[in-house]
Amino acid sequence: MKVTQSQIITRGLTVHCPNCGGKTLFPPGASLRLNKECPQCHLRLEKDEGFFLGAMSLNYGVTLVVFLAPVALLWYHGTLSDTAATWLAIGISVVVPVLLYRASRSWQLMLYYTFFPQHLPANRRVMSAVEDENV
Ligand SMILES: [Zn+2]
Repeated sequence: MKVTQSQIITRGLTVHCPNCGGKTLFPPGASLRLNKECPQCHLRLEKDEGFFLGAMSLNYGVTLVVFLAPVALLWYHGTLSDTAATWLAIGISVVVPVLLYRASRSWQLMLYYTFFPQHLPANRRVMSAVEDENV
């Protein structure tokens, strides 16, 4: 296999294209719009309608577990007052999902291609060459 699962994971965690490794998921600048396809290898990044729901779930899950749960624990143990915990939770709920947006889109692609590495164009050519040799 040309692109291994560890390469897919590394590329996903660093917001790079899972197929070619280019930093091409988003246009240059601070854009939150995912490219429809990688400009270098033409991998379709917007797979199907609703594919982004996985990224949203990852985003909310990480926000809840990593950022909001500690606030809830601190409030529960009396370290944070009711008012402080409420405002902190509201602030985290608004800011963190925006900050994690790019990463969560990359994580979604990473998870998909970690489970289906044969769907990457780079691996498809290798797989079909192997199948041709076996015929
Ligand atoms: Zn690419």
